[in-house]
Amino acid sequence: MDLQYWLGRATHAVQDWADTFGPYQPHPSLQVDDDRFATAFEEFTGRLRENYPFFHPHYAGQMLKPPHPAAMVGYLTAMLINPNNHALDGGPATARMEREAVAQLAAMFGYDTHLGHLTTSGTIANLEALFVARELHPGRGVAYSADAHYTHGRMCRVLGMEGHAVPTDNRGRMDLDALEDLLRGGRVGTVVLTAGTTGLGAVDPIHEALLLKERYGVRLHVDAAYGGFFTLLAGADGPEGLAPEPWQAIARCDSVVVDPHKHGLQPYGCGAVLFRDPEVGRFYLHDSPYTYFTSSELHLGEISLECSRAGASAAALWLTLQLLPPTADGLGRVLAAGRRAALKWAQLITTSDHLELYQQPELDIVSYFPVVDPATLSGIDTASARILADGMTSPDPVFLSTLRADREAFTARHPKITADADSARILRSVLMKPESEHHVEHIHYHVERLTRS
Ligand SMILES: *Cc1c(COP(=O)(O)O)cnc(C)c1O
Repeated sequence: MDLQYWLGRATHAVQDWADTFGPYQPHPSLQVDDDRFATAFEEFTGRLRENYPFFHPHYAGQMLKPPHPAAMVGYLTAMLINPNNHALDGGPATARMEREAVAQLAAMFGYDTHLGHLTTSGTIANLEALFVARELHPGRGVAYSADAHYTHGRMCRVLGMEGHAVPTDNRGRMDLDALEDLLRGGRVGTVVLTAGTTGLGAVDPIHEALLLKERYGVRLHVDAAYGGFFTLLAGADGPEGLAPEPWQAIARCDSVVVDPHKHGLQPYGCGAVLFRDPEVGRFYLHDSPYTYFTSSELHLGEISLECSRAGASAAALWLTLQLLPPTADGLGRVLAAGRRAALKWAQLITTSDHLELYQQPELDIVSYFPVVDPATLSGIDTASARILADGMTSPDPVFLSTLRADREAFTARHPKITADADSARILRSVLMKPESEHHVEHIHYHVERLTRS
């Protein structure tokens, strides 16, 4: 796909449409002089250089990468019109695209019925799921694992709900015995299960938690903001295949959140929340004097806590999914490559004298730390921070990230390490670009050299 060509086509397509409405003059107050624009643009692009190269395979740090070119063209084309998916009055075409894209996501999770919409982010999507949970279980709290995304605790405070962090096992998954102890107390109405924690990619045992749903009458919400698209690898052949049980169980949970702006190749501003029971739409009921005029169909703003939302986000997702649908041989191939990259790197680390695996990658996140002598948490912490910094400034830079592992979590995995501190930073690489598959060896040997310098 030639981005320049398609962006050119985009401006023509929108102009052709605009021309059907008759000519008019733009107001002089909006006019900017070409020379002044050139100067500002020069400064602007100069300042944008102050970024990490998220697109490059040697960027193996945080959960960041550019959108797919189809998403860029979809977003920018729709943005030229700037529809608002709050209501069909604001964005009729893109609101329909949103419905279709959301239905594809629901089908990916095996939901046979659904109510859902896109959101600005995973945080807002989870907020919506917890809001509905609160309406259904007033006065009862929310349980999430100690490794769940930090925003669950924050959103519980926003919603005035009690939040409970449940301990995790030595692979970062929620300890269901500890959860059950908590559920016996009767204070919890909703359990958040994470399908792919942000730190380590751990997948909570969702299928086993289903039993507790029946036993204690709790709602189950799955936070799959990062991991959701990995459901496309559930039960797949080959090394990248994942144990299918937790992924299949999502279809029987009450709600799920997935972030197309993480693994769905989308620009930021694209999360999604899906409810299995469309009846929960009643909790959003409100009337708006400004909107909802053109159609008696349900407007997306009537089932969303947010008001204005970019129609361009829906357009980008819709166009991307036309080309890379959420199926095993569509988007699944992209995730499979990242997963193979993670497994390959883990293998290299396992045989290394200079690096040690923190834990086996669950999805596409590799966690590791430098071997230091004496083997203490403080030594690992200092060495990890140094490698992160040296990697970025080396002549052939590599970009990693760090993760703070607390003492208990660390020693549960590595009992021989001397725990002389409360926590240690370790190294973490999210291999979410399929190109990583062909670059992990290079990155590995580079990081190994950095441990020795
Ligand atoms: C990223 C993430 C979130 C938050 O999503 P945003 O889109 O960054 O707001 C929530 N939960 C998990 C598991 C995540 O990985």
